[in-house]
Amino acid sequence: MYDWLNALPKAELHLHLEGSLEPELLFALAERNRIALPWNDVEALRAAYAFNNLQEFLDLYYRGADVLRTEQDFYDLTWAYLLKCKAQNVVHVEPFFDPQTHTERGIPFEVVMRGIKAALVDGEKKLGISHGLILAFLRHLPEEQAFQTLEQAMPFRDAFIGVGLDSSEKGFPPRLFERVFAKARSEGLHAVAHAGEEGPPEYIWEALDLLKIVRIDHGVRASEDERLMQRIIDEQIPLTVCPLSNTKLCVFEHMGQHNILDMLERGVKVTVNSDDPAYFGGYVTENFMALHEGLGMSEAQAKRLAQNSLDARLV
Ligand SMILES: [Zn+2]
Repeated sequence: MYDWLNALPKAELHLHLEGSLEPELLFALAERNRIALPWNDVEALRAAYAFNNLQEFLDLYYRGADVLRTEQDFYDLTWAYLLKCKAQNVVHVEPFFDPQTHTERGIPFEVVMRGIKAALVDGEKKLGISHGLILAFLRHLPEEQAFQTLEQAMPFRDAFIGVGLDSSEKGFPPRLFERVFAKARSEGLHAVAHAGEEGPPEYIWEALDLLKIVRIDHGVRASEDERLMQRIIDEQIPLTVCPLSNTKLCVFEHMGQHNILDMLERGVKVTVNSDDPAYFGGYVTENFMALHEGLGMSEAQAKRLAQNSLDARLV
């Protein structure tokens, strides 16, 4: 089954580039940049990847991202992810990057952007993987800083296709970012946002009505609100679901409880994605495989999920 799932052509629409930083590359970059790490080796770091919730993961994630310093580092990070995509027949990617994770610690915006973009362009030329990059704002920081980030990004307007919203969800509702999303949309950018992962269905309503997003990242808690479910079915608003992330961060206790296939059968446009594969135990194919093993996903369902991902592309 793994090989069959691996060979299915698919798109990945919910992937944080910083979350694809594998421990081996993390250690290599730390050495290249002469950065001391709190872990002795790759094994010790992997052992730290036992999270109880989103915040515990984020604390480690920001720590890990600190090894990314130069344009070459961002290139290497992105390129390593694209090689994985090639190996798993992911033919199109719409990854997120979090500029604030880097500008906050003094890395210039253009260093981040140039490194990532150069790798994505090479991925298109050398690996045949098309792309659309999404700039994600960190929701635990004030909207004012999101505005500054958008301003820094505008000289590179052609390098990305949209804006997103990620990081700690609880206590940081989408409505806090209504103005910066309006500004981004006025620049012709697509809008997406993380909503309904740990946060309640109300956050999904806000993301749709106030941020006017065209795709929901996660969104699994929509199933708690029947009126919301009906809307996302009627309007065929895609959900970028990340099964391994959801179980690793205890949104669902185990894969057998995941609601993605129920949603699929009800007509929701759900897709399968890896979120932060270096931290959550696998890339897209491993996520499909987990649905097969934990939920009994059939080949027919896998085909529909893969087709949904191709249909839900923004570019
Ligand atoms: Zn995410």
